[in-house]
Amino acid sequence: MSRIPIMGDDLPSTMLEMLGHDFELHPWNASPENPALAVVQGLITYGHPRVDGPLLDRCPNVKVVSNHGVGVDHIDVPACTARNVVVGNTPGVLDASTADMTIALLLALARNVVVGDTFARGPNFTHYDPSNMIGTEVTGATLGIIGLGRIGRQVARRAHGFDMRVLYHGRTRQLAAEQTLNVEYVSLDALLSRSDFITLNCPLTPETKHLISTTELTKMKPSAMLINMARGGVVDQDALYTALSTRVIAGAALDVTDPEPLPREHRLLTLPNLIITPHLGSASDRTRNRMQEMTVENLRSGLRHEPLPYGVK
Ligand code: NAP
Repeated sequence: MSRIPIMGDDLPSTMLEMLGHDFELHPWNASPENPALAVVQGLITYGHPRVDGPLLDRCPNVKVVSNHGVGVDHIDVPACTARNVVVGNTPGVLDASTADMTIALLLALARNVVVGDTFARGPNFTHYDPSNMIGTEVTGATLGIIGLGRIGRQVARRAHGFDMRVLYHGRTRQLAAEQTLNVEYVSLDALLSRSDFITLNCPLTPETKHLISTTELTKMKPSAMLINMARGGVVDQDALYTALSTRVIAGAALDVTDPEPLPREHRLLTLPNLIITPHLGSASDRTRNRMQEMTVENLRSGLRHEPLPYGVK
């Protein structure tokens, strides 16, 4: 039986095993000169390569784009729909893992975990000094969540474990979640001015591009800390650099950047009050395994013209 041509890059061995012998896997190459584009029937976006109209036009046989991950800002979904190409992603399964990482970054920022590690390994740590590296108390602080969706709700649950007051902002008020999660809906301005920590858990859309820029950073408390678990483009990074370097806000943690990775000489990388992780939100063993399974399930269903188990609408 002939194998179905698909395109995808850097797939881990576990995912290759799930794909089995049914597929002929071509490495990701969007160049018009790539002859594989004329034959591939499925695209696996592992590591977020861009899928847009011009690429789809070069792939006339593609039926499905299967994304490993929940955010689909790198895929032009309307362009896919216009060409009868279905798009799948992996929602839900990564909520806990990504919320855990959000809290990990919040704690690391508040309690100087990263700078403390560097200091403790270096020559200047000669004696215990109780005045050194006094952090910000997390217990009882106010957390503002922008985007109380699947991941944001898990962040709220974890924050209550630290007796935090939880505010949220989104386009719609969620009355049921307010009851079950004990969270308070506020305007963006109120969230900015009242929060000690702000986490971004919304998608990157035209509306959320640079949602956090100079105006918003200026409304935050000078002691406040920002955690971006969403997408790099949600934060205006030039404005963030200025705010961190002039102490308009106290600190930030970025799990995601724009571009990703940042150029090695990027000035954000020089800041001591910034933590950067390489897009680790959902990077835990069980979660990643389930994401791979869902990606393959979506691919197989799309190729069979069946409804995707986890389709993007
Ligand atoms: P979700 O369930 O769709 O939740 C997204 C939330 O964002 C919703 O509550 C939505 O509420 C809100 N939102 C949408 N537009 C907004 C706006 N303009 N202003 C404020 N809030 C807005 O999505 P999810 O599964 O939680 O994932 C959220 C995002 O996290 C993904 O899109 C992805 O980019 C990112 N993510 C990152 C990692 C990582 O590794 N760092 C891992 C997983 C996901 P309303 O519609 O009511 O506004």
